[in-house]
Amino acid sequence: MADTSTCTTRSCGTVTPGIVDKCPTCGGRVQTSRRIRMLGWASIACGLFLIGLMGYITSAMYPTLANPGAPIGGDRWTGTAEQARMALNLFYLVIGFGVLAAAAGVWMVVTGRRHIAITIVTLLTAGVLIFQTWETTAALKNSQRAEEPRRIVQPPPMAPVNLGAPAPDKPQ
Ligand SMILES: [Zn+2]
Repeated sequence: MADTSTCTTRSCGTVTPGIVDKCPTCGGRVQTSRRIRMLGWASIACGLFLIGLMGYITSAMYPTLANPGAPIGGDRWTGTAEQARMALNLFYLVIGFGVLAAAAGVWMVVTGRRHIAITIVTLLTAGVLIFQTWETTAALKNSQRAEEPRRIVQPPPMAPVNLGAPAPDKPQ
């Protein structure tokens, strides 16, 4: 894993051995492999943290989420099946993002270089993740708001309708 400096100018992209301040070809800014490897380790740490945290939460909540409304081990998912599915999807997405971050980190540590595709995919996944989190949170909030009046507005007990006249076919 020898140190290299990669020119950040898109049209140039010269890779120079060792740590240099400027690109020897075009004089542009360089990104050193040392810095990218540090980012790579940080990315691996973030990825593993997300996988560990969400893996733990998912495994702890999966029984209740997979059986909405059913009491399991003294716990119960009080939302709808749809919301349970959304929550699970969100968990899987976070774990997927963690795997992606760890993989991108490994790639950066091994090669000492950055790849534009990795950056784009990571940003896109982060965007989807934020959108999904927002949607799930909104769905859960809406259900809480909708639940309140539902408890108050109970259908009145069925009362026998008596209009004063005796039923015509009833024998007196
Ligand atoms: Zn250059």
